[in-house]
Amino acid sequence: MMIPVRCFTCGKVVGEHWEEFKQRTKEDDENPAEVLDELGVERPCCRRMLVSHKDLVDIVAPYQ
Ligand SMILES: [Zn+2]
Repeated sequence: MMIPVRCFTCGKVVGEHWEEFKQRTKEDDENPAEVLDELGVERPCCRRMLVSHKDLVDIVAPYQ
């Protein structure tokens, strides 16, 4: 499942930050809170969109 383009609650575009957020938290092992601050994702409703999102594509792909 791809990340939703916009925050469900406030409508801010968050999908454009996903790739950078994912890379910096997983590969560079940075603190997710600091990455979100730098990306300008400040509202809790938007931050949860990125923090709680899992790339189901990676999980489901082997079974196709
Ligand atoms: Zn929001």
